[in-house]
Amino acid sequence: MKPLNSSNKKRVFSLTTALAIMSALVILLCFFMVEQSNRMIREDTTRYLSEISRQASYKVNEQVSFKLSALSAAAENLMLFDPYPAGLSQSYLANVEDQYSFIWIGYAGKDRMLVSNEAEAWDVSDIPVIQDAFEGKAGVSDSLITNKSGNRGVLYAVPCRSGEEVTGVLAGWASTEDMKDFLAAETFGGQGFSHIIDRYGNFIIRSENPHAKLEDDSIYDALGGRARMLDGGSVEELKANIRSNKTYHLHVMLDGSIDEDMNYVPLDNGGWYLVSVVPGGVYSGMINSFTQQAIALNMAIFVIFLTLTIVVVFFDNRKNKQIERIAYEDPVTGGFTAPRFDLEISRLSDDFRPYAFLSLDIRKFKLINDAFGSTDGNRVLKHTHDVILRHLNPGEYASRISADTFNILFLTTDQEEISRRINSIAEDLNAFNRIQKTPYYLPIDCGIYIVKNPAEDIITIRDRANTARKHNKGTGNGGHQLFSCVFYSDVERIQLLKEKEIENRMEGALEQEEFVVYLQPKVDLETGCISGAEALVRWQTPDQGLIPPNDFIPFFEKNGFIRKLDLYVFEKVCRLLRDWIDRGLEPVPVSVNLSRVHLQVPDFLDKFKELQERYQIPPRLLEIELTETMVFENLEFLKQVVDDIHSMGFTCSMDDFGSGYSSLNVLKDVPVDILKLDRVFFDKDNDVRGNDVIESVIHLAKKLGMATISEGVETHPQVEFLKQVNCDMVQGYVFSRPLPIENFEKLVFTSKNP
Ligand code: C2E
Ligand code: CA
Ligand code: CA
Repeated sequence: MKPLNSSNKKRVFSLTTALAIMSALVILLCFFMVEQSNRMIREDTTRYLSEISRQASYKVNEQVSFKLSALSAAAENLMLFDPYPAGLSQSYLANVEDQYSFIWIGYAGKDRMLVSNEAEAWDVSDIPVIQDAFEGKAGVSDSLITNKSGNRGVLYAVPCRSGEEVTGVLAGWASTEDMKDFLAAETFGGQGFSHIIDRYGNFIIRSENPHAKLEDDSIYDALGGRARMLDGGSVEELKANIRSNKTYHLHVMLDGSIDEDMNYVPLDNGGWYLVSVVPGGVYSGMINSFTQQAIALNMAIFVIFLTLTIVVVFFDNRKNKQIERIAYEDPVTGGFTAPRFDLEISRLSDDFRPYAFLSLDIRKFKLINDAFGSTDGNRVLKHTHDVILRHLNPGEYASRISADTFNILFLTTDQEEISRRINSIAEDLNAFNRIQKTPYYLPIDCGIYIVKNPAEDIITIRDRANTARKHNKGTGNGGHQLFSCVFYSDVERIQLLKEKEIENRMEGALEQEEFVVYLQPKVDLETGCISGAEALVRWQTPDQGLIPPNDFIPFFEKNGFIRKLDLYVFEKVCRLLRDWIDRGLEPVPVSVNLSRVHLQVPDFLDKFKELQERYQIPPRLLEIELTETMVFENLEFLKQVVDDIHSMGFTCSMDDFGSGYSSLNVLKDVPVDILKLDRVFFDKDNDVRGNDVIESVIHLAKKLGMATISEGVETHPQVEFLKQVNCDMVQGYVFSRPLPIENFEKLVFTSKNP
């Protein structure tokens, strides 16, 4: 079964859109997560870095102020001995040196000559920290100092006071080695380190960490030449911040490959700065692995989601397919159902070109079903469908619409081509007979309507194709061929031809006694016995079989032949009654139908009278059915006719009562003996309102002295109801269809109960 194109396209489209949106979302999410994690890790790193700097600077500050306090205490102690007592001081100061890690401690008097027991006298007049100390301010040198012996170190200096007056300075020389321990903090797996620089960017203590890559004396020089700033910032900004004693942060790329994060924190003394460094690669590695994890997680979620979507879509699809199958797949043929076919037809109007709509059925398919059973019947239908499909071109459709009727769409309007294609379908359909001992032919009848207007609705289109198909029987190329096809445009012509043919044949048919009388029993509801019959005519043709009266009577009424036919039937009935009487059987009354066409001829009843007398039939056995419609033509005349019928001794009934514009009023004016309720009353089962009407009509008829008979009764509940409301008789399939005379006789004369 071909899928429904548009709904599938829609499904694929929405699925693709959903996936595209989802992919975009996943990418965005990854991007967002990477950004977010980057930011978080940077923030964390920065925070961690400042924490490390804080701790390291705390230790350095503590060490420096520890040394300064020790030196101040020593100065105070020494000043107790005024003037400077060289002997005592030496052993005392040696003790302080040892305890507080000074290489030596010396004293400078007003002459600014620094004297210690280890170094020769050294003019320190131009060393700022000494000058500061003479001004009364303790401190540490703001940069590395080279002493007389050529060693580099830092100088701590505190004032020595006599009263308020600064009389000298006590200075301690220290190497920077001992502070290196504080700077070698175990951060970032040993990859982090710290330096101490002075306010000019020169190193006071340079980290010995193998990752420390700056070899210049000045950090400014090193950065200026080799570093590229990563997150903004500049060496100039760094200098300005250091000048104003502020912390500063730099993210740099050294030599194009070494990523470093640097924190500059001012220390308490000497205008020194602690520079803590973390290699940027440390966290970029972290970011990478974090990012990978994030992406992996995202992908995992995406895959799960995708799988779920596919599963849902798959089951949904299966369910939809099931529903589609039920609605759109014919269980017998596996092909399109009528709704599916109509859907395809409705789509043609989008890009309309004239096309042919075919209605096809298998001639006498019912016989196949009856003879071989419905399983074989279904196989025939499937076979027919398969054959039709084999003969379709792209863009053409076929469907079994109901029972054995198929609809086909041909994308051509050429009549010859269409006939040729139907012919090959018919041949293909019957090809199986070639290997059959006794062939069984499946002839097909086809009606074709050429659709030229996109606005035409499917109901009209199908109706016309059906009408065309029904005009096959007994005409033109119908007959005994394997197929027949009729175009709707030919229907009128065919109708005329048919009528012409009937006209040509009817007289001969009457002579050849092709018109046969069937009898339909009337059952008395009180006794359950057959209390009468209606004579109904059929045309038994030698070539087209039995033709029902509705197919020829309307035409005979047009051409007046009905008058002859009615008399013929009446004579047949008279003969039959005569035969029954002669055979000693107990005859039942038989009614005949009288066409309203008779009313056009005055004294038409004479001929009926004549026949009755010729066959010497007791008139009570004859009943004449008039139809309700005659009333409108001439009520007075109709009354006269009824009276005449009565005067001849026949029974008179009013046929088809209720089918037209029945007026209960006419009943009192037209004194018929029997009222025949039309089958429209029994179309619907359990119709409460309808039942009320039936009951009232029967009641009224009774009041007017008329018997009632219900026609077209098909079910037992209807019979039960009619018994309840005192209807006298029933004529309907529930008891018997119209029967050939022989069968009727068997039914009536062998057992009185049907
Ligand atoms: P009608 O006179 O109303 O005849 C009753 C029709 O109802 C018959 O159709 C009969 O077969 C059908 N019928 C009976 N019981 C049932 C039932 O339970 N269900 C259904 N669905 N139908 C039922 P038929 O024999 O085809 O006759 C059709 C009409 O042809 C008659 O209708 C009558 O108007 C006309 N007709 C038949 N024979 C003659 C005739 O000799 N002369 C004239 N003028 N008209 C005739
Ligand atoms: Ca009738
Ligand atoms: Ca009737």
